[in-house]
Amino acid sequence: MRKSDFLFWADRIANDISERKSFHFIGKPIQKPKKYTIKTSASLSGVLHIGRLSDTIRGESVYKALLDQGKKPEFIWVAEDMDPLRKIPKGVPESYSKFIGMPVTDIPDPEGCHDSYAEHYMSEYIHVMKEFVSSDMKIFSMRKEYKKGNFNPYIKILLENTEKLKEIQNKYRSKPLPDTWSPWQPICENCGKIITPRVTGVRDGLVCYKCMDYRFEKTIAKGCGHEGVNNPLEGNGKLVWKSEWASQWARWEVVSEGAGKEYQVPGSAFWINGEIAEKILGFPMPVPIFYEHLMINGEKMSASKGNVVYPAEWLKVAPPELLRFMYNKKLMKMRSFSWDYLPNLYDDYNNHEKIYYGVAHIKNKKEELHMKRLYEISQLKLSSSMPLQIPFDFAAMLSQIFQEHEKAIEVLRRTGHIKRKLSKKDIERIKSMLGYARNWALTYAQEKYRISLPEKPQEETLKELSEPQRSALKQLGKRLREKSMDEKEIYSLLWDIIKSSGLSAPEFFEAAYLVLLNKRSGPRLTTLILVIGQEKTARILEQI
Ligand SMILES: [Zn+2]
Ligand SMILES: [Zn+2]
Repeated sequence: MRKSDFLFWADRIANDISERKSFHFIGKPIQKPKKYTIKTSASLSGVLHIGRLSDTIRGESVYKALLDQGKKPEFIWVAEDMDPLRKIPKGVPESYSKFIGMPVTDIPDPEGCHDSYAEHYMSEYIHVMKEFVSSDMKIFSMRKEYKKGNFNPYIKILLENTEKLKEIQNKYRSKPLPDTWSPWQPICENCGKIITPRVTGVRDGLVCYKCMDYRFEKTIAKGCGHEGVNNPLEGNGKLVWKSEWASQWARWEVVSEGAGKEYQVPGSAFWINGEIAEKILGFPMPVPIFYEHLMINGEKMSASKGNVVYPAEWLKVAPPELLRFMYNKKLMKMRSFSWDYLPNLYDDYNNHEKIYYGVAHIKNKKEELHMKRLYEISQLKLSSSMPLQIPFDFAAMLSQIFQEHEKAIEVLRRTGHIKRKLSKKDIERIKSMLGYARNWALTYAQEKYRISLPEKPQEETLKELSEPQRSALKQLGKRLREKSMDEKEIYSLLWDIIKSSGLSAPEFFEAAYLVLLNKRSGPRLTTLILVIGQEKTARILEQI
């Protein structure tokens, strides 16, 4: 296939991986890789919000694309657990301030249920990822990797090539790295912190350091003043990031990895590590998956802004497939997400689903293929037949009026949303859709989506109605009793009444919403009548 034949971004990247002929920086020919590893990773020191799942979800798409192109890829997840604790997260005792600057693997579990802070958060992370990712992942811990000596071959080469390493980085620096610079960051043997030891020199492959205060943005890691000597090959420390990333690629034979769009610029850690990997470690730079970060209402997610969306919150209003769909849809042109946008996201997803199962078609065949692929790759498990669909805003309305799903199903039949005999799976799907929609309506939706039905019109609202409004609504009640109608018939009935009443459409609709919902606006009136039922609507209108 030609490159342009791959319509979906992950298929294009997979193709780039298998078709590339030479190293990026040094132009040397590339041997066919023995392994195709896709790496995804996370630091365990921050909050786990839905934005942090994007790297893994997108990495998995490239992994699946490689599988589909007949390769035998491997998908790995690396816990960057040598990262120091930077500040005390919510819910963790103040006494943990003494651990600031220590690797999270060496700090006790604040809840006492795991061997360490890192183990605790890692198990939470893996638990969450398993809900959003369907492929098997091999899990690695950097702390364990160093301790086992798995990085020693790379550490050795990097230490021997310190001058070359500095040269690569200095090209992008206004101030060159100091003479004492080393790619190895030791852990202080006295206090166990990793951020505080300042390298003072390197002698015969050993790194000398002095443990000094380190200032984070808002906190300080206290140094203990200890002066020590560290042997990098003993694994008590880590490579600095602009050396470690390159070594990870070589260690696991990584062919592709995701990175935020800020890494796209020349001189970023991605390219510097690429150069280090190729020029010093002899390993070709992986094909990057650069992506846009998820914004919430136009802002970056952060605990201090209070706009963090946790995976558990997402799963209350939408299935994992919807988040996968959102991340897979576009890599670089991601719109900001807001809870108001959720019904549109559902609609978009449902349209793709219809196309995938051949229930709907569009003229542009390329776009149609793209939609199918996007839908397919966003699934955790593909269903052999098309799942039952209910428009999300309709489900939101229905779920607020009827708590029991049996009643809701009756209405869905009446409104034509259900036309087939329901299987167990269909009923489960309806139940979960109603649950998602109800949670969304009650927690996040704008006022116009909130609904509660008064049994009879409220005295106060009746006073607001004009005589023509009253008689039009009474007329509507009477006509609704005459015969059972479908959506189209109710629609034309409404317009008949509007025309004969002399009211403007807004005057008529406002009156109807005031009586039926005790508010000035609402969902489409035709739909609302179908949901409430003709008879019950008539009963309310007769009491005007
Ligand atoms: Zn625990
Ligand atoms: Zn120390």
